[in-house]
Amino acid sequence: MKGFAMLGINKVDWIEKDKPCCGVYDAIVRPLAISPCTSDIHTVFEGAIGDRHDMILGHEAVGEVVEVGSEVKDFKPGDRVVVPAITPDWRSLEVQRGFHQHSNGMLAGWKFSNFKDGVFAEFFHVNDADMNLAKLPEGMSLESAVMLCDMMTTGFHGAELAEIEMGSSTVVIGIGAVGLMAVSGAKLRGAGRIIAVGSRPLCIEAAKFYGANDIVNYRNGDIVDQIMNLTKGQGVDRVIMAGGGVETLEQAIKMVKPGGVVSNVNYHGSGESLPIPRVEWGCGMAHKSIRGGLCPGGRLRMEMLIDLVRYNRVDPSKLVTHVFHGFENVEKALLLMKDKPKDLIKPVVIVE
Ligand code: NDP
Ligand code: ZN
Repeated sequence: MKGFAMLGINKVDWIEKDKPCCGVYDAIVRPLAISPCTSDIHTVFEGAIGDRHDMILGHEAVGEVVEVGSEVKDFKPGDRVVVPAITPDWRSLEVQRGFHQHSNGMLAGWKFSNFKDGVFAEFFHVNDADMNLAKLPEGMSLESAVMLCDMMTTGFHGAELAEIEMGSSTVVIGIGAVGLMAVSGAKLRGAGRIIAVGSRPLCIEAAKFYGANDIVNYRNGDIVDQIMNLTKGQGVDRVIMAGGGVETLEQAIKMVKPGGVVSNVNYHGSGESLPIPRVEWGCGMAHKSIRGGLCPGGRLRMEMLIDLVRYNRVDPSKLVTHVFHGFENVEKALLLMKDKPKDLIKPVVIVE
C-alpha cells in the first residue's frame, strides 16, 4: 500500500509498505477524510519527538472499517468511523490512574505518527477497536467529523485543564484551529470575558464566531501589557496556551491572577526548558497553577464530542478552509499546513 511518510527529519515522501495486520481486538480502516496537524509539522520539520524513519504521518482521520479482529463486538467492515488521534491501551495502569493519554508510557496513547504508522495511508491499523472507534452519525459531514479527532478534543481539553468556572475571565493565546476550539470550549464551560490572542484576520473573525469578546494582536506589542490594559491591571482568571513559542508560558503566568490557572495544550517543539518568571509567580507562592496535557482520545470522548456537534453546541466546520479531493493531495495539504498562508485554518483531504 501507499503512504505519505516522514523519511527522517526534514524529509517527506510517498513510500510503499505492507498493509497492516489486524490483531484479534483491532481494526483495519481505510481513510475517507484526513487532515494534517501542526504537530505533524513539529514532528517532521523541527524533529520535536526525535528522528523517525519511514514512518507514515497523520493522526486525524474519519474512515471506513475494512477488517476487524475476532474479538471485536461493536464494529464490522463497512462501518464509517471517527478515529481519535489518541488510541490508548485501555488495559494499562495509567488508565486506572485516570490518564489514558499516557497508557504504557508518557504520551504513549499517541500512537499514530509517533510510535506507529499514521493515517496518511491507504489502510491503517487501530488498536482495541471497540474502545477506540466511534460511529460516524448519519448526516455529519466528513469535514466536520475529522475536526473532532484532534482539534476539538485538544482545544476543549485546554478549557478543561484551565478549570474554567461560570464567569471566569479567560485568555486564549493562539487562535489556530486548536485555539479556536479552546475559545469554543471556554464559552461552553461558562467563561465570562474571553480575550483571544492572534493576528490573522480570518482567525480573528473565527475567534469572534466561537465566542471571543476581545482580540489582542501579538504583533502590536507585548501581550501582557495589552491584556493588563484591557483588564485595568487586574489580569485574568484563566489562560489557555494554544500557540506561540516558549515565551508564552512566562507571559501567561504574568497575566493570570493569583489563584489562577494556566493551561497548556501547545506543543513546545524546541529548547531545553520553559522559563517561569519568579516574581510574578509570587516567588513560588502565588497559587498560580500550571497544567498541560495531551488531548483525550478513545471512543467515549469521540462520542461525547459527536453529541456536541449533533445537538448544535458547536460547529467545527468553520475551521475547514481548504478541501482537496483525492488521496494524492495529502502532500499538498501537509505542505500548506507548514506554510500557513493567511487564508488557512485547516485543510481536509476527502479520499472517498
Ligand atoms: P496554528 O499554527 O494554526 O495556530 C497558532 C496560533 O498561535 C495562531 O493563532 C498564531 O497567530 C498564534 N501565534 C503565533 N505566534 C504567537 C505569539 N508569539 N504569541 C501569541 N500567539 C502567537 O496551530 P494549531 O492551532 O494547529 O495548533 C496549536 C498547537 O497545538 C500546536 O503547537 C500543535 O502542535 C498543538 N497541538 C497539541 C495537541 C495536544 O494534544 N496537546 C494536539 C494537537 C495540536 P496568527 O497565525 O494569527 O498570526
Ligand atoms: Zn495533532
